[in-house]
Amino acid sequence: MTDYPDEKALVEELYALIRYVYRRKLAEEIIRAFEDAFQTRSPEERLAICEQWIDFYRAHRYKKAMRRRRPTSRERMTPCSACGYPVSHRHHLWDVATHGENKVTVQLCANCHELHHLLYNVLARDSEHSRKLALTVLASERVSPQAVQQLVGWCRAIMRYEVENGWLEGYKLSDQWLDEKLKWSDYRQRVESRV
Ligand SMILES: [Zn+2]
Ligand SMILES: [Zn+2]
Repeated sequence: MTDYPDEKALVEELYALIRYVYRRKLAEEIIRAFEDAFQTRSPEERLAICEQWIDFYRAHRYKKAMRRRRPTSRERMTPCSACGYPVSHRHHLWDVATHGENKVTVQLCANCHELHHLLYNVLARDSEHSRKLALTVLASERVSPQAVQQLVGWCRAIMRYEVENGWLEGYKLSDQWLDEKLKWSDYRQRVESRV
């Protein structure tokens, strides 16, 4: 940032924000309205207008980035990546609240989706409430061991990324933690003895 804001750069930023926030036709109308207004104003007034509206549209851009987009029907018709059920949800491995709408997603059926959130809440957030539910699901043996294994693997991959960034305590990645929270060794033994 310089002490003397460059009007051309500010106007460009303003128009880029407008084009990001609005659909093309509306964006061009708004930009034309700004161009008309600028013609009758002094340079000081133009700068003031730019600064004020840049703030305003930046807030809009932030809100837009935080909005999850609606899944396409092709996405909904994608089988669950964990268990193969034919329709699925789009689950954000990087949560939208922290990272905004992003491409780090996996398609999961409703049950696997819920289980993934439960497992993550148990392992990363140490939620007792989720732990009861997750243990009930694991004990029921209604979800295939391969799907459970896959979901736990994704949880831990995300957690590893969070640990590397200093957002999560490292011990939550240990096998001991997995055992303590999900009775993981017992579960593995149980499913292996079934085969
Ligand atoms: Zn599934
Ligand atoms: Zn989700």
